[in-house]
Amino acid sequence: MWWLIFPGILLVLIIILVVRAILFKPYTITEPVKNDFELDNEGIMHRFSELIKCKTISDRDTAKVNFAEFEKLHNLIKNFYPNVFYKCDFEKVLDTGLLFRWPGDKKEEPIVLMSHYDVVPVNEDQWDKPAFEGIIENNELWGRGTLDTKGTFVGILEAAEFLIKQGYVPKNDIYFSFSGDEEVAGPTCPAIVELFSKRNIIPAMVIDEGGAVVEGVFPGVKSQCALVGIAEKGITDIRMTMKSGGGHASAPMPHTILGQLSQAVVNIENNPFKFQLTPPVIKMFDILGRHSSFIFRIIFANLWCFSPVLNMMCKKSGGELNALMRTTVAFTMASGSNATNVLPPKASFTANLRLLGNDTYDSAMEYLKKKADNDKIEFEIIHGSNPTIYSSTDCKGWNTLNNSIRQTWPDAIVSPYLMFAASDSRHFCRITDKVYKFSAMHLTKQERGYIHGNNERISCDAVYDIVKFYIRVIKQS
Ligand SMILES: [Zn+2]
Repeated sequence: MWWLIFPGILLVLIIILVVRAILFKPYTITEPVKNDFELDNEGIMHRFSELIKCKTISDRDTAKVNFAEFEKLHNLIKNFYPNVFYKCDFEKVLDTGLLFRWPGDKKEEPIVLMSHYDVVPVNEDQWDKPAFEGIIENNELWGRGTLDTKGTFVGILEAAEFLIKQGYVPKNDIYFSFSGDEEVAGPTCPAIVELFSKRNIIPAMVIDEGGAVVEGVFPGVKSQCALVGIAEKGITDIRMTMKSGGGHASAPMPHTILGQLSQAVVNIENNPFKFQLTPPVIKMFDILGRHSSFIFRIIFANLWCFSPVLNMMCKKSGGELNALMRTTVAFTMASGSNATNVLPPKASFTANLRLLGNDTYDSAMEYLKKKADNDKIEFEIIHGSNPTIYSSTDCKGWNTLNNSIRQTWPDAIVSPYLMFAASDSRHFCRITDKVYKFSAMHLTKQERGYIHGNNERISCDAVYDIVKFYIRVIKQS
């Protein structure tokens, strides 16, 4: 009978996996109250188009920034949103920060609506239409920044102007925090957070750019998903350098320093960082996994059993799924000799790392050192920021956000996720664990490709949804 033990155990295991997958059903959610608003669609698109005409391109070197374009935008919004400027306290922070406080009945649970209004440069000759003329054609507004992220900038201001005109007074103070140097990781948002900190203001919710309403991003899920970033990976650049006496290339040693560094790169690439399931990813698997096809539900309902398989698959495949579950390393730059026949006196490789879970830039450098396995290599952290804390999904702020999303995109499943990219809102994680990264728009895969790319444009309907979303957020906060 002993020979029956193994098939018996296997059968029990399969039954457990299948039963758990069958029981892994979507959470029941209460339908949010339906509401709609009559907006001045034409006016909104006109104002948005005018703001696109401001070439608010940021640059790490502020000497290269055309501040007149930023000034132009500041003057426009004063004209476009007179009630916002009338009702709210307004202060400028550093060169480009615009901070508003819309006084509410109470101060206890203030919320912060964020956006940056600087944009990245364009390769104008690769665009089908000019990037800074605010052209509206076929129900689309063209221009750099329409998606990233003057759309949310306009949405917040339009929502506030709309409600103030109606005499609406928010229950709690509402802050609008806009920066003009996010794309270059500038000092504005940190300075704004410092003001909050000094004034002892602890936001009950912060909403900034991040995830969006998307399709086809989660295995086995066909419906729309509204992905809300509740944490960001850390980011660091680490350089490995070796030096030698140089010399002529005609009689070299078996390995030049470039060869030795290359070996270190291979060693590191062959030893990826450890697999970690962090809270945002566990929550995402738990929510979206329940909406997945049966085969995937077997996996997501039984991570206790499939984690090692997932780990192996991700190690091999790399890509987005892998990046959700480990610190990644991408060697992006290298330098050596400046002549083909000269041995390099100095050579280097530089890697861009995205940190996750328990990894910090210091511990990541130690890991690289160990795996490189060559003590003649010098390691240097060029800059670094550690992963953010995880924001709560069990609070009023999260529920408000959740409701507002479902009122605006009724078919979307709302789920937390982990952001790979860095955004300004990471600085707010210093003072609150209620920071949510959500770009309030439905974006197709093609539209996501326009961000920082060519032909960036947004549909007018998407713009109206942004405004409605922020009206709903404000009314429920
Ligand atoms: Zn952005």
